[in-house]
Amino acid sequence: MTVSNIPGPLINDRYKSDPVGRFLDFILKKREQELPFVGLYCGYAPVELIRAMGAVPVSLCASSQRTIPAAEAVLPANLCPLIKSSFGFIRTNTCLLFELSEAVIGETTCDGKKKMFELISHLKPTHVMDLPQLPDEEDVRERWTEMVSKLKIFLETTFQANIAADRLEAEIRETNKKCGLIDGFFDYMTLHPPPLNCQELYDVIGLDAVTNSGELQALMAGISRTLDERIAAGICFGTPASPRVLVSGCPIGGDSGKVIRIIEEAGGVIVALEACSGMKGYSIRIEEGTGDPLRAVAEATLKIPCSCMTPNGGRLAMLDKMIRRFRPDVVIDVVLHACHAYNVESYKIMKHAQYRHGLPCLKIETDYSDGDVEQIRTRVEALFDSL
Ligand code: SF4
Ligand code: SF4
Repeated sequence: MTVSNIPGPLINDRYKSDPVGRFLDFILKKREQELPFVGLYCGYAPVELIRAMGAVPVSLCASSQRTIPAAEAVLPANLCPLIKSSFGFIRTNTCLLFELSEAVIGETTCDGKKKMFELISHLKPTHVMDLPQLPDEEDVRERWTEMVSKLKIFLETTFQANIAADRLEAEIRETNKKCGLIDGFFDYMTLHPPPLNCQELYDVIGLDAVTNSGELQALMAGISRTLDERIAAGICFGTPASPRVLVSGCPIGGDSGKVIRIIEEAGGVIVALEACSGMKGYSIRIEEGTGDPLRAVAEATLKIPCSCMTPNGGRLAMLDKMIRRFRPDVVIDVVLHACHAYNVESYKIMKHAQYRHGLPCLKIETDYSDGDVEQIRTRVEALFDSL
């Protein structure tokens, strides 16, 4: 079974269809404005604080096989590829954004990551936030709010800046507007079949990092027009018979994007991406006008249902909503090698999808190398054949 390609580009030339070019334009513009960059590795970093002091939050490179050999000269080989790749980028001076960043924010989400931060903290001012991981505890909000307050002090001290409450409130509104626009866009993925493929979906999500809400709104209007024209012309990705796939698990990007390609080449249509690199963060809103924007930011970020949380009921609840909204036929849970939290939680996710929603599931453990491409392809094709 194959899926036909659809005509592009989705993001038309006026706004540049080239994501790398668009990203470089964004960086150059911010450099010309002499704004400082702050590097991040995870969704728990509250970007609103960084923007509120006039700095630019940037996600650091973390998903290439090429930097792993350099990392393995220091780190154990049986470590999550995301951590090894991040460290390898730094060790080989190939993460442009790390080079540009004047500070790095980390969190204690998993052991490998937090120990990796120790190895890079001499290179840049590095602040590690101690993430409470028992989300149902009574004092969890207070503890995380305290960590967000400490981040504020770190940023203000490092950059000799002031993060004013009204600026933070404005950035909260900005985040909510952008999340609303992108989450609304995901409605296209509810169509049967949808009018775009997964790469285009990623391209749209990628706009979040390089636009403000006004720019994003203008871009979205153009993108929606293109998609509406496709729908009117009967152009879509796949057919009504193509298996609709919800991909869950670890963040997917760069060299782990092979899994996405294999699913589509096997005839699947990806309608939902549960991971942080996909849709997870966009359903969360920060409460506006509370009078305590720092706490509002802390409470919202704490709602991210990462597998580092235990118990992680929020992830099952989010999965329920995604399944109801996007109506997948199957769930494919992607776990990066040596990511113990997502790996152990995979059992719960698969049982939940099978017994609560009656969906067939497949767990794929992989890394950034291409040695398992054919094995993954065989398993995905067998899954689709069984439907
Ligand atoms: S999966 Fe967890 S640790 Fe990884 S980026 Fe997402 S929130 Fe952070
Ligand atoms: S994928 Fe898992 S092990 Fe790797 S950095 Fe994220 S939470 Fe940690």
